[in-house]
Order: sequence, then structure tokens, then C-alpha cells
Amino acid sequence: MMREQFIIGVDLGGTNVVVGAMPVDGSREIGMRTLPTRADLGATGVVDRIAALIENVILDVRRETGAEREDILGVGIGSPGPLDRERGIVVVTPNLGWRDYPLRDEISRRVGLRATLDNDANCATLGEWWCGAAKGGRNVVGLTIGTGIGGGLILDGRLYHGASDAAGEIGHTSIDSTGRRCKCGNYGCLEAYCSGPAIAERAREAVESEDHSVILAMVDGDPSRITAHVVYEAAKQGDLIAREVVRETARILGAGVSNLINIFNPDTVVLAGGVTQAGDGLLVPLQGEVRRRAFKPAVDACRIVLGTLPVSAGVVGAVGTFKMQVLGSI
Ligand SMILES: [Zn+2]
Repeated sequence: MMREQFIIGVDLGGTNVVVGAMPVDGSREIGMRTLPTRADLGATGVVDRIAALIENVILDVRRETGAEREDILGVGIGSPGPLDRERGIVVVTPNLGWRDYPLRDEISRRVGLRATLDNDANCATLGEWWCGAAKGGRNVVGLTIGTGIGGGLILDGRLYHGASDAAGEIGHTSIDSTGRRCKCGNYGCLEAYCSGPAIAERAREAVESEDHSVILAMVDGDPSRITAHVVYEAAKQGDLIAREVVRETARILGAGVSNLINIFNPDTVVLAGGVTQAGDGLLVPLQGEVRRRAFKPAVDACRIVLGTLPVSAGVVGAVGTFKMQVLGSI
């Protein structure tokens, strides 16, 4: 009988690093571990932490399965970008403060395993496609909505990277050409309205002239403590202002998703990240907005779903990208 082989996945975020392992067939998750990223330690300090997590996960795999170290094929890494995949380099990450950092080779050297690098949002989309809510799709658009909005495109069953690995920056597509200023310097990006912090900001503006809102009660009257999560909770409790902020989010996000549906004609749009906490209160009006805006044959062919791997999509997808890059298919 052939021995089972394993791949490690790394999901590097600005706040946390998650590392876990899977057998090559993707049938289960092993040893999902997380640590604060500690970007303040600099690239070398962060990579030391990642390497230590990888070693712990390798021990988990050996303990749980009886595998040997040589049964670990390698490490797939998902990182914020832009990236140069071929050279394994992180070109620039505002959240981590890195520039032209050879992340893939630094990790590979420390743990003595082959490694691959891909964009974190690509990985999250691939993870939901391989093992989560977008399973069975062939043309999938993924949006990861949290601190920012990341995007991933799976076209004809393959991750699409574009001419310079920069494809899928859905958060920075323009929704309003003269709209809110975005962190990227542009105006009116989708991210400037629908990221977690942007949703909180719109809620802050909405409660400014209001005395009675569950939102304010939930933060003891301190608007600076409003988060997207608070808005979702208040909406679930029936607060009218919170509901309107969620509906407005659904309208704007619906416009963005309609653009994607008209361009790519996907069979699945999967929404992942913190936004999934909003549940049907967001999803249902979003689906309605998309039906009003996008072309009917494209809408009819597309399901819009919430992700089902809130913690592990990035790790699962990083394992998947390693498999695609090294073994040629998933
Ligand atoms: Zn932007």
C-alpha cells in the first residue's frame, strides 16, 4: 500500500498566521494552529514564528498518522500581495511593511521543504472551491471580505492569475468614480464601502444624528468602538439603522457582484471572511440586487453562497495551490 503523503498550508495575515496540514487528497484537516503575526518583529521575526508553527504541525501530523517527515511533500504559502509567484517574492504588503521579500525561499530554507507562494485571497477562494461552499463549481468568483476585500478567480477549473499575478483585486474595482477615498489612493473602490472597517464607518455616520440605536447601546455610547460585527448583531436584534446599513452594504456589494457576474458568467460566487456573520440579512437583499442588475442568463446560472470554512479556507487553499503548482492538478 502506498504511504499517505501530506502538504502543509500557511495562511499569513496581517493579524494572525494560521498553519495546518492535509493529506494530498484534501480529505481532512490536521493540526490547525494559529499565532499572532507580530508584524512589528519584522520579516525575519515573522518567518521564525511561521517556521516554528510548521514544525509543530509536522509533529501533529506524525503523531496523528504515524507519518515520517519524508511523507511531507512541502509547504503552500498564502500571503497578502502583490506577489511575484515565479520568484516567490512578496513585492509589497502595506499591512506587514515588507518590500521585495523572498518569503517562499526563506520559509523553504528554514524547514527544509519545498514551498510555493500565492495570493491569500486566491488561496481562500481555492479553499472554498476545493473543500467548502463553492465545491463542484468550474467558474468561481471568490470575495474575502474582512479588514479589506480580496478576490480570487477560478476560470475553467484553474486559478486565474493574469499577466502579472495581479488578477482578482476585486476590492479595488470602482463602484463610484467620485466616491469615498480608498486606502489604495483611488476613489470609490468597493473596499471603501464594504470592508469591515468601511461598514463600521458608515454605521458611525448613520448613528451620528440618532439617539436611539441598539448600535450605540452595544458600544456604551462610544461610536469609535463600532465594528461591522456590532452592526450585524444590532441588525439581527431588529435595529432599524443597523438594518439600513446592512441593506446599503447589500446594494453596493450587489452592484459589485453584478459587474463580476456580467464579466465572468460564473456558476458560483462565494463570499468569505467576517462578512459571513451577517448571514441572510445581507445575502438575501444582495441576491435581490444582483437579480435586478445583472443579465438574466448569467444570474440564472449563478449561485451566490457564503463560505463554509471561516478559519481554514486560506490554509486549505494554500495546500491546494501547492498541489496545483507542484503536482499539476487538484
Ligand atoms: Zn482601492
